[in-house]
Amino acid sequence: MAKLAKERNEGMSGAKSRHVPLRMCLGCREMKPKADLIRVVRIGEGALEYDATAKKNGRGAYLCRNSACLAKAVKNRSFLKALGSEPTADMFETLKKAGMNVE
Ligand SMILES: [Zn+2]
Repeated sequence: MAKLAKERNEGMSGAKSRHVPLRMCLGCREMKPKADLIRVVRIGEGALEYDATAKKNGRGAYLCRNSACLAKAVKNRSFLKALGSEPTADMFETLKKAGMNVE
């Protein structure tokens, strides 16, 4: 409910709070900084793709970098709800690797 009341000193202190974009993980449903998540994007007719650069066009969804959240998202059909499609077995493996390969 707070109005934008603290814009006064912006640029002066150098300590202005930077805007960290948050996204929700499909697995645990927690909001996390975009940079900490992996992005899945829907391309074409319902195919899903791992978006390593997080810059691809298309409808995207996010996951924590761990296989537990991936498994949870699949189990809860979160992909279907968020992107209208579910990952294939191949895609699942790709995402699993993507989540684990990154520190
Ligand atoms: Zn998660």
